[in-house]
Amino acid sequence: MEHRHMISSVAKGSIAREMGIEPGDILLSVNGHEIEDIFDYRYYIEDEYLELLIEKPDGEQWELEIEKEEYEDLGMEFEQGLMDEYRHCHNKCIFCFIDQMPPGMRDTLYFKDDDSRLSFLQGNYVTLTNMSEHDISRIIKYRLEPINISFQTMNPELRCRMLHNRFAGEALKKVDILYEAGIEMNGQIVLCKGFNDGDELEFSIRELTKYLPNLRSVSVVPVGLSKYRDGLEPLISFTKEDARQVLETVHKWQEMLYPEHGVHFIHASDEWYLLAEEELPEESCYDGYLQLENGVGMLRLLENEFTEALESEIGDDIERNVTIATGQLAYPALCRLMERLREKFPNTKADVRPVKNKFFGESITVSGLITGGDLIEQMKEITLGERMLIPCNMLRIDEEVFLDDYTVSEVEKALQVPLNIVKSSGQDLLDTVLGRNI
Ligand code: SF4
Repeated sequence: MEHRHMISSVAKGSIAREMGIEPGDILLSVNGHEIEDIFDYRYYIEDEYLELLIEKPDGEQWELEIEKEEYEDLGMEFEQGLMDEYRHCHNKCIFCFIDQMPPGMRDTLYFKDDDSRLSFLQGNYVTLTNMSEHDISRIIKYRLEPINISFQTMNPELRCRMLHNRFAGEALKKVDILYEAGIEMNGQIVLCKGFNDGDELEFSIRELTKYLPNLRSVSVVPVGLSKYRDGLEPLISFTKEDARQVLETVHKWQEMLYPEHGVHFIHASDEWYLLAEEELPEESCYDGYLQLENGVGMLRLLENEFTEALESEIGDDIERNVTIATGQLAYPALCRLMERLREKFPNTKADVRPVKNKFFGESITVSGLITGGDLIEQMKEITLGERMLIPCNMLRIDEEVFLDDYTVSEVEKALQVPLNIVKSSGQDLLDTVLGRNI
């Protein structure tokens, strides 16, 4: 059989345990069906009557008959969460951030995935360029939605050029199939100056509105340019004037679309507002924050949550002295919030410090790409107070490690200050500044 799935754990008291299945066994089929990945597995084990084909470590094959409740889980976990290899992308996009990373970082950071299953499981954006008809029909069969699509442009020729893939224009036809099948989608446009901006952006937005309402939202984000672009397509940063034009286009479409569709549909990421030096939109313009992962509305959400949390506080005059390290992008918003904090907590000094991204290049302004090395370098001469706060997105998920492999304790040691990790909400920020959840 082509697909063999090593079982990594079997839950206590589960059906699998009762049937004698053990870690190290291999699942070969369910009701005679080979299992391609986790979606096949979940689908086929829903039945009340199952026949599992299991291979034991000595090669012996067991045919197990199971009667259970419909949808009841068997209690097995597999070596690979997806029960398949992650799909590698087939593109060489002119704006790819992975191509702009310095050498010598962790291998996993160089992996270019483009896997629709991860779109569904983790919210990743996919280009549709490596999807077969079989993949599309599985999305429809299993209702793997929403699918998040990196459009970049709706001009097929330009898309081929930007993705360096001659099939990238053709791949847009798959959107029609997903749309016809009623699959929910979200979209993203990474804007590159002189390529897909201006009239091309207008054209793309117009074309994308044809997929409303199944296509629920589309974000426009500026290309991230690191200092490691040798040998890559020359790209230039957007100016304040460019950002204003992008916002004008986005707002114009929002105003046209909202009355008819009840959604704003096209959204500019927070970076555009910072670059244009314009006010962030109100919460209602974000349609329920469908594109937070793309940096759309993060600052508005933080500001609203923090203000709401602060309103329910009585305040105190306890002395506190902390530093908040952040990227250039969130710096103005955090300064505003700390000013508000002082109205109720006058003796709380929260010194917000923007960290320049020397590691990737100073045009990178998000806090999620700040390294431990930059933090140490730029904070070592500063009086940091009792504690230093950093946002959790500076660290790898569920680990106390920065992008450049510095650990939290190494940074604490170098700066001689405890680090407090702020989770993502405004309430978390307030609590951490006040020293409640440290
Ligand atoms: S699809 Fe994504 S990972 Fe692949 S080259 Fe393009 S930007 Fe990079």
